Amino acid sequence: MATKDSRILLLEEEKVLRRAVDLLGLSDEVYEALRLPERVMQVKIPVRRDDGSIAVFVGWRSQHNSALGPYKGGIRFHPAVTMEEVIALSMMMTWKNALAGLPYGGGKGGVRVDPHTLSPRELEQLSRGYIRAMYKYIGPDHDIPAPDVYTNPQIMAWMMDEYYRVSGVHHFGVITGKPKILGGLETRIIATGFGVAVAARETAKKIWGSIEGRTVAVQGYGNAGYYAAKFLHEMGAVIVAVSDSRGGIYSSKGLNPDEVKQVKNKTGSVIYYEKAEKRITNEELLELDVDILVPAAIEDVITKENAPRIKAKLIVEAANGPTTAEADQILAEKGTVVVPDILANAGGVIMSHVEWMNNRIGGLITEEQAKEILETKMSRNTLTLWDYWHRELEPGKHPMRDAAYMLAVSRVVEAMKLRGQL
Ligand code: NAD
Repeated sequence: MATKDSRILLLEEEKVLRRAVDLLGLSDEVYEALRLPERVMQVKIPVRRDDGSIAVFVGWRSQHNSALGPYKGGIRFHPAVTMEEVIALSMMMTWKNALAGLPYGGGKGGVRVDPHTLSPRELEQLSRGYIRAMYKYIGPDHDIPAPDVYTNPQIMAWMMDEYYRVSGVHHFGVITGKPKILGGLETRIIATGFGVAVAARETAKKIWGSIEGRTVAVQGYGNAGYYAAKFLHEMGAVIVAVSDSRGGIYSSKGLNPDEVKQVKNKTGSVIYYEKAEKRITNEELLELDVDILVPAAIEDVITKENAPRIKAKLIVEAANGPTTAEADQILAEKGTVVVPDILANAGGVIMSHVEWMNNRIGGLITEEQAKEILETKMSRNTLTLWDYWHRELEPGKHPMRDAAYMLAVSRVVEAMKLRGQL
């Protein structure tokens, strides 16, 4: 979400890159070559309002690095979007895609707008206007957008159609996250949460031999949190606590994720689930005596203040940035494994890749196959990172995140060297 000051976000991304570059023993020259985006576009998008007046919006697309393939990353519509934020997020996508083993570089787009203030017609005009303005710089082999904060499959459909109107060619693969009838995949809905569950299962096997019977607390019960809980439950873990913005619930015997979801859908919150033993706060949830903690709500909830009190041995980040850098270090030193967001919540972009491939081969991939591909990729990526972390670093000194960025950066650097860019 566009909640953090965008200059801080950009500085944080640069800091993480600097750390990876230093750990890999690469030069300042390489750091500069990796830091700067390849291209940043700013466009003006005029929209005729329903009352006849003209509103002018500003949009950006940052294309950070394309050494591994076409740029890939979402487009957000949010009133706080800035150019710095879009650049920082495009850089994050470069590492995320590289770590996920996808043939993509990193990109991100955004429009500074509160979409809730627009009528459906105005929203459509804005979506189409963005594509008309960016048309020359995107394409299925060049830059492939997807949904992000406050954008959705309908917006992707308008954008794809506008690309068709301008180019005259049916390029379904120009955008992912589309409705199923236009080449999208329903598996996308579960992709992030399922991917988180698979990452948790594979890491749990390394720590305990199996995920079966392990206790789990999930903070946040939206798309990522609910599906993570649902699939962890199916894998044999015991979901003892979940929460949303109104608070949390706890049950030592375990909660049924689908029943809790039904209650949330009906009443607006998980706290009204009557079979729970007790209600808890979001702060208490983080410090519960559980095996696995899944932060799936907002950023910066695990800090240097509460990190020493966290009892979970394994934290799997479904949310973006839930653990601060200081907390990450404290947790590494006390032996807590934190599977970082750039690995754990990559299910969405992995599913985007499956959708893009499917569009290019005429729609042969079934939903079952899509889920299988996601599972294989998530488990392989988790194990690869686990091995790399233990081979290249000392886990008691370095968080798994260090290994994740090192592995991602080293892949991009290798591609740039082979291309003759470095
Ligand atoms: P969502 O809006 O569907 O759900 C968010 C949930 O968090 C809701 O249940 C909300 O009540 C709860 N919440 C909000 N503030 C909270 C607070 N202060 N304490 C506890 N709970 C709180 O969002 P989502 O799509 O599930 O995304 C959640 C996180 O996962 C975000 O950080 C997002 O960036 C990240 N993420 C999501 C996806 C995805 O595909 N959904 C992909 C990558 C990353």
